[in-house]
Amino acid sequence: MWQGRPLWAEIDLDAIAHNIRELKRHIGERPELLAVVKANSYGLGAVAVSPVAVEAGATRLGVACVDEGIQLRQAGIQTPILILGYTPAWEADAIVAHGLTPTVTTLDLARALARFSEARGVVTPVHVKVDTGMGRFGLLPADVAPFAESVRAMQSLRLEGIYTHFASADEADKAFTMRQANLFLATAEALPDVRLRHMANSATVLDLPDLALDMARPGVSLYGCYPSRHVTRKVSLRPALSLKSRVARLTRLAPGDTVSYGRTWSAGRESIIALVSCGYADGLPRLLSNRGHVLIGGHRVPIVGRICMDLLMADVTDMSGVQLDQEVVIIGRQGDAEIPVEEVAEQADTVSYEIICRISARVPRVYVRDGRVVRVSTLNGQWEPALE
Ligand SMILES: *Cc1c(COP(=O)(O)O)cnc(C)c1O
Repeated sequence: MWQGRPLWAEIDLDAIAHNIRELKRHIGERPELLAVVKANSYGLGAVAVSPVAVEAGATRLGVACVDEGIQLRQAGIQTPILILGYTPAWEADAIVAHGLTPTVTTLDLARALARFSEARGVVTPVHVKVDTGMGRFGLLPADVAPFAESVRAMQSLRLEGIYTHFASADEADKAFTMRQANLFLATAEALPDVRLRHMANSATVLDLPDLALDMARPGVSLYGCYPSRHVTRKVSLRPALSLKSRVARLTRLAPGDTVSYGRTWSAGRESIIALVSCGYADGLPRLLSNRGHVLIGGHRVPIVGRICMDLLMADVTDMSGVQLDQEVVIIGRQGDAEIPVEEVAEQADTVSYEIICRISARVPRVYVRDGRVVRVSTLNGQWEPALE
């Protein structure tokens, strides 16, 4: 049992390994799988998740920025790491020094990378991103061939990959996705010697596995979330994250008494209110005030009053025998009851991605494998319990 702060994210590493194996089975033998571990593995913890992803069959890792890549290198992870975001030229030396693989879309960055690679006597692999309709990041298709030509002229760079990203692969209508895919394939055709063509995020892997090409790039599905409710459930994903807390106080309120800031909830009857150590500074959206639920004793109970920075309150009047320190599930399963991430996302008017990746740094991450805690990461450090 976890005996630190009475609020923790429990990460099921077996679920992540299971999800990767299932996704790999779905796309078949040929494509590589790059595990997207940006944003600290969507909040689950990239240092702990990455080795598990690699062990389960991921051959590469994807991050958003240079610092995220360096963090993994400093943790001793040697797997190729692709930086998916924009990198300014002044970070070129850090990229080369840590053996990261950047996405290159400017000659400035390409030249700086070439210079530092030459100085260190290495060849740096780079990927080129094509904007085929996301309207966000990447070269326009017409600019790809001349850009690739310039990169090829730089001896210390190797154009290893070309990729694009879909704007609406998680929608039921795949017409725009197919248009983007075709534009990408036509663009990549001009660069037949580039080894890795890739474009498939989770929704594409799940719904259009044939588009995995040379490499798939799933993120949210590794963690057991379906990208949207329109995406097929044929691949069975296991949720990898639960958010748990404990009852910190039980209060008896008289009819008319009110709860929390702004007094937005008042007791209509004699009520018992459970105080729970979890607030919006932990990442729980304040929009769940007077709207969301938590699980106690295997039952759903409503969150009442405004969620505070560090605390929330739940109405447990209809339950008997609730105890101080009893487990509270905010996201996840308890007995037969479940609050999926998707439910929290819907109530907060957002996507599951945002709910999990904003669980804040002060929430301890407790990693479980084979039913045992194998690693804990808190604000004050990380440790691996001795395995008997
Ligand atoms: C975040 C990201 C992904 C992963 O997307 P999911 O929907 O989480 O699978 C893939 N490719 C790129 C370029 C990304 O930025």
